[in-house]
Amino acid sequence: MSDPKIIDGKAFAQDLRARVAGAVKALAEGGLVPGLAVVLVGENPASQVYVRNKAKQTAECFMRSFEHKLPDTTGQAELLALVAKLNADPAVHGILVQLPLPKQIDPQAVIDAIDPAKDVDGFHVINAGKLATGGRGLVPCTPLGCLMLIKSRVGELSGKRAIVLGRSNIVGKPMAQLLLAEDCTVTIAHSKTRDLPAECRRAEIVVAAVGRAEMVRGDWIAPGAVVIDVGINRVPTPDGKTRLVGDVAFAEAYPHAGAITPVPGGVGPMTIAVLLRNTVVAACRSHALAVPGFLD
Ligand code: NDP
Repeated sequence: MSDPKIIDGKAFAQDLRARVAGAVKALAEGGLVPGLAVVLVGENPASQVYVRNKAKQTAECFMRSFEHKLPDTTGQAELLALVAKLNADPAVHGILVQLPLPKQIDPQAVIDAIDPAKDVDGFHVINAGKLATGGRGLVPCTPLGCLMLIKSRVGELSGKRAIVLGRSNIVGKPMAQLLLAEDCTVTIAHSKTRDLPAECRRAEIVVAAVGRAEMVRGDWIAPGAVVIDVGINRVPTPDGKTRLVGDVAFAEAYPHAGAITPVPGGVGPMTIAVLLRNTVVAACRSHALAVPGFLD
């Protein structure tokens, strides 16, 4: 039997993908097939795996998948020209340019060039601004996935004390905005925060996104807190191999937590599922159709 304390992101993501597939089928009956374009520049092995998985899962949800693989030597102008082409293509509802990009390309310039209505990563400044001001934009996938997992365990978020460890534009800041929009009282911690353990111990919801292996110790976790571990860190094992760990020392935190995500199998699988969900949302909005509520 599964452990009720563990938040099973893999199962949740599978369920979300099934809901996405259901929405896609319904849209297809009306003649609209959502399409996701993924652009990969260069040979980064981790990026290649991500892009392969995205394309596979896009097809499994009956959406159109457009893959664009460009060589490492691609210049910024060439990439911007491709983005412009995808912006203008009515069959493409979502555009994702896989990061990191080779050093001759400014990632911000590329993100800024994507039509905000097709920016399914939610990184465009227009979408960041909408999130910050309560507008209806596209929300970054990993934090939205975290919020879905939190909601699956915390009935009423209003008034809850939450802490987000990390303030990056792609995880920490949007995560904090999402929790604030749910009326949580949010603390954003970072590398200059004083007495992080004490800040953490006050929180009923802890989201760790620092990229530091097992930094969050068991005695930082208040009894019953919901712990979401975004970190993906590869650490060496005694037998000379490596294993994945999160930003939370799982075995220590587990007895204190009310619910906790494992690494792997927690937040990780949610990211692509939310990307697919965002693509359906973008497709619906492009045709002025209501977004099915079951995608939230
Ligand atoms: P960044 O490196 O961009 O940001 C890390 C943040 O953590 C910064 O705000 C930094 O503070 C803060 N930080 C670093 N060290 C400490 C410390 N000792 N104490 C307190 N705060 C600290 O990372 P990302 O946000 O991109 O990613 C975070 C983690 O999440 C990584 O492990 C990454 O691999 C993972 N990740 C997982 C995803 C998934 O799909 N599951 C998707 C995206 C990321 P400061 O701003 O002061 O420097």
